[in-house]
Amino acid sequence: MTKDGTTIIVGAGLAGLTAALELLDTGERIVLVDRDSPEAVGGLARLSFGGLFFANTPLQARHKITDSADAAFADWCRFGELTEGAEDALPRAWAQAYCADSAGLYHWLTGLGQKFMPVPLWVERDGNTVPRWHVCWGTGDGLVRTILRALEAHPGRDRLTIRYGIRVDGLSTSGGAVTGITGEDEATGTPVALDAARVVIATGGINGVDALIREHWHKDWQPAPPVILTGAHQYGDGTMHRAAAGAGAQVHRLDRNWNYAGGIHHWNPTKPNHGLSTVPARSALWVNGQGARIMPPMVSGFDTRDLFTQLCRQPAGYGWQVMNRKIALKELAVSGAEMNPAVRDHKMLSFAAQILFGNRWLYDTLTQNCVDVVVADDLPSLVNKMNALSVGGVEMREDTLRAALSAWDAEIAKGNGSSDPQMQALTTLRQWKADKLRLTRGVKVLDPKAGPLVAIRTFPIARKSLGGIVTDLASRVLTPQGDAIPGLYAVGEAAGFGGGNMNGIRGLEGTFLGGALYTARRLGAAAREGA
Ligand SMILES: Cc1cc2nc3c(=O)[nH]c(=O)nc-3n(C[C@H](O)[C@H](O)[C@H](O)COP(=O)(O)OP(=O)(O)OC[C@H]3O[C@@H](n4cnc5c(N)ncnc54)[C@H](O)[C@@H]3O)c2cc1C
Repeated sequence: MTKDGTTIIVGAGLAGLTAALELLDTGERIVLVDRDSPEAVGGLARLSFGGLFFANTPLQARHKITDSADAAFADWCRFGELTEGAEDALPRAWAQAYCADSAGLYHWLTGLGQKFMPVPLWVERDGNTVPRWHVCWGTGDGLVRTILRALEAHPGRDRLTIRYGIRVDGLSTSGGAVTGITGEDEATGTPVALDAARVVIATGGINGVDALIREHWHKDWQPAPPVILTGAHQYGDGTMHRAAAGAGAQVHRLDRNWNYAGGIHHWNPTKPNHGLSTVPARSALWVNGQGARIMPPMVSGFDTRDLFTQLCRQPAGYGWQVMNRKIALKELAVSGAEMNPAVRDHKMLSFAAQILFGNRWLYDTLTQNCVDVVVADDLPSLVNKMNALSVGGVEMREDTLRAALSAWDAEIAKGNGSSDPQMQALTTLRQWKADKLRLTRGVKVLDPKAGPLVAIRTFPIARKSLGGIVTDLASRVLTPQGDAIPGLYAVGEAAGFGGGNMNGIRGLEGTFLGGALYTARRLGAAAREGA
């Protein structure tokens, strides 16, 4: 790469924007192209909750959390099932580098003006041995604004051109090197061909298209359920993964995906099968479409992949979270910026009130708008409403559901004396102050004083592609033989967040936004050194 060459970055999500910010430091001219509109700049990060995985930060220290890069890396490899074999050498190298540099990433962001919520959260507890999820104040929307502000303030800003509405669908090559891109201006149908000394693929994952999701459905989740929602980018159609493969890249592990079990239909969909991901109430009972409790009990916050696998195995691959209004107000949440306006819009008082007194805004929004949420004063009425929403002819039986709820209420009544695994999980959760604040205690589901009853139909929702285009630690795209393809780079979700699968089979959460930033930072560091 020569200093006076042009770099084309395909995709203006968090990874593409950060790559642009980093590469401006090298003195290059940069053309950033995206299929989407200017309002959608920032891609999925804009919609995200903004939780980032960092180890050994001042925020952790403030809460007396002892952590280290080594501890984080050990948790990461165990949870992601990254082996010490050659097949995982690159993902492990990326994971190790990420853990070593994550505190630096935190400082870099705070240096750019990004603020974080006052307490790190403890997600994926079967993986994370300490709380590491640092939530951006302003959600992912705030994070994108931070990067955009830095871009606008960069002294080399006039070397960056951003073009929206351009679909890139091919790579030009010459003598084994990538020399540019081809595509189309989607508004006019005009073909676009641009030459470049370097092309960076930052087009995100592949979970935007139902057919592609099903094509790469993991064997653990077979047969694929009839309804699969998606929270991924609508342009996540694998076009640039295929283009990279066509240029000789290794693209792998597309069946490794980070999906969720709490998917509900979006009531204002902007893409096919558009879903939102609930953060399920932990005191709710998760039952299958027939009303039987799903066993072992489904409790979020420990192993998201495990929950997802369990849901897929239920009749017709869906389930119901059953609770009451009191539990919903205190415990129910929905992932992302859109359903957390208090955090997104920096309204600290509203946020504090929601934590202390319950999130009435969310309760009203969901119960009034979402087709998957039913409310009733008594169980027979609730079951009628649930049956009206049954999938694949699965019948909800009132006696089965009543027995399951009564048994669960009996465990709730026992409190700490209960040996029920869900009760024990609740006890574990309460040990971290941030979780304790968001849990009810002793509220029985069938208690009429805590009503009305609420049931939420949940579907599998596809989200992050953990696999992707294989890259080295400079974000150069590699062939299956391990050679770098001259002129071709990949960052963010397109690159499996680094190395083609930095997380392995599971992610510790926050490693996706983190991976988008980190892969771009590695690209920038290598470019500054002339790679
Ligand atoms: C609701 C929600 C909540 C989330 N919460 C978190 C969280 O708290 N923590 C976390 O770590 N992760 C979270 N994530 C995941 C995280 O947001 C994404 O993994 C990350 O933002 C991906 O960034 P990216 O830049 O690699 O890809 P994307 O954001 O997908 O951006 C890709 C860009 O490429 C463009 N593009 C695609 N194809 C083409 C093409 N052929 N030609 C031109 N342009 C193209 C798209 O228009 C898009 O702008 C969340 C995701 C969602 C949806």
